[in-house]
Amino acid sequence: MKIIVTGGAGFIGSALIKLILAETSDTVINVDKLTYAGCLETLEPVAGNNRYIFEKADIADRAAMERIFSEHQPDAIMHLAAESHVDRSIHGAADFVQTNLVGTFILLEVARAYFNALPDDRKQGFRFHHISTDEVFGDLEPDAHPFTEETPYHPSSPYSATKAGSDHLVRAWGRTYGLPIVVTNCSNNYGPYQFPEKLIPRIIRNALEGRPLPVYGDGSQIRDWLYVEDHARALHLVLTRGELGSTYNIGGKNEKKNIEVVHQICDLLNELRPVADHDYRSLITFVTDRPGHDRRYAIDCSKIGSELGWEPRETFSTGLRQTVQWYLDNDDWVAMICARQEKQDQFL
Ligand code: NAD
Repeated sequence: MKIIVTGGAGFIGSALIKLILAETSDTVINVDKLTYAGCLETLEPVAGNNRYIFEKADIADRAAMERIFSEHQPDAIMHLAAESHVDRSIHGAADFVQTNLVGTFILLEVARAYFNALPDDRKQGFRFHHISTDEVFGDLEPDAHPFTEETPYHPSSPYSATKAGSDHLVRAWGRTYGLPIVVTNCSNNYGPYQFPEKLIPRIIRNALEGRPLPVYGDGSQIRDWLYVEDHARALHLVLTRGELGSTYNIGGKNEKKNIEVVHQICDLLNELRPVADHDYRSLITFVTDRPGHDRRYAIDCSKIGSELGWEPRETFSTGLRQTVQWYLDNDDWVAMICARQEKQDQFL
């Protein structure tokens, strides 16, 4: 297959591209605008692979998308490109509306015209796979059953609202125009190469620099953590074997309070990079909670388990240990990303 992956220079997209190139004979066309969150260095190990092509382009640029579809004649598209950081969406939502909603709309229109012109035999296999988040479901009560594929949408932040809107657009293009779509909604990812503004890499970085470890509110918000390679494996499975028009929830079966995650990182650092004068836990600082902060997300991923046989391979303990060790071994990548980003804005 020839697969367009949008947002392939990001955290999940780069893990997905590496997995596809390593474990299949597919060709990947990485379409990425290279915003502050895009990092081509992450893909250096595959840059010379003759089944890997990079196209620097904005998904909201219709002419560029038309050229890319026409030139590469893809069999499928996996759409990950998005503005993805909730805090940034609270400070300014314009880029989120532009990329997550307008960009997805443009991509759907270009994919629809391309699909309609395909010969029948190639139409059969074509897929538009939209990659989304569990945040579209909103706040989950402490004792409520985890989100299923039937849970109604109640997004809380500008980020999750734009992702929810993009999910609705994709399903409408499936229902109204017959575009062959699949949608996945996944819980919080973690692992190597995650941009250092997100919780886990940010805590690791601050701890190593002896800076305060900021925890929102009392740290009791619950997230369901999934190791990024487990997500990438699930995505490829859904693309190739998922039922047409269907949605699959993907989760790690690892519900953790934020404060527990921070404690676990501190304990791993105490073991792997001990410092003489303090326990890393002593750096924890509780800060004013994020407005509209959802208290709990949790995913019921039994559908992808029973229909497609997917199970996460990593537990939170094994995945977090690998992640902390990776950040310890790759401080040059983190320093490079942070220096580049601090030049672009003063956000961190
Ligand atoms: P990321 O922020 O690390 O990467 C996003 C990538 O998209 C970057 O490479 C960026 O350059 C690119 N991009 C942004 N705007 C673009 C545009 N207009 N045109 C082309 N490229 C553009 O994000 P991520 O964490 O890898 O998430 C990828 C996808 O998975 C997103 O759609 C996100 O909503 C979804 N998701 C993420 C998580 C998570 O925990 N990170 C969980 C569930 C779902």
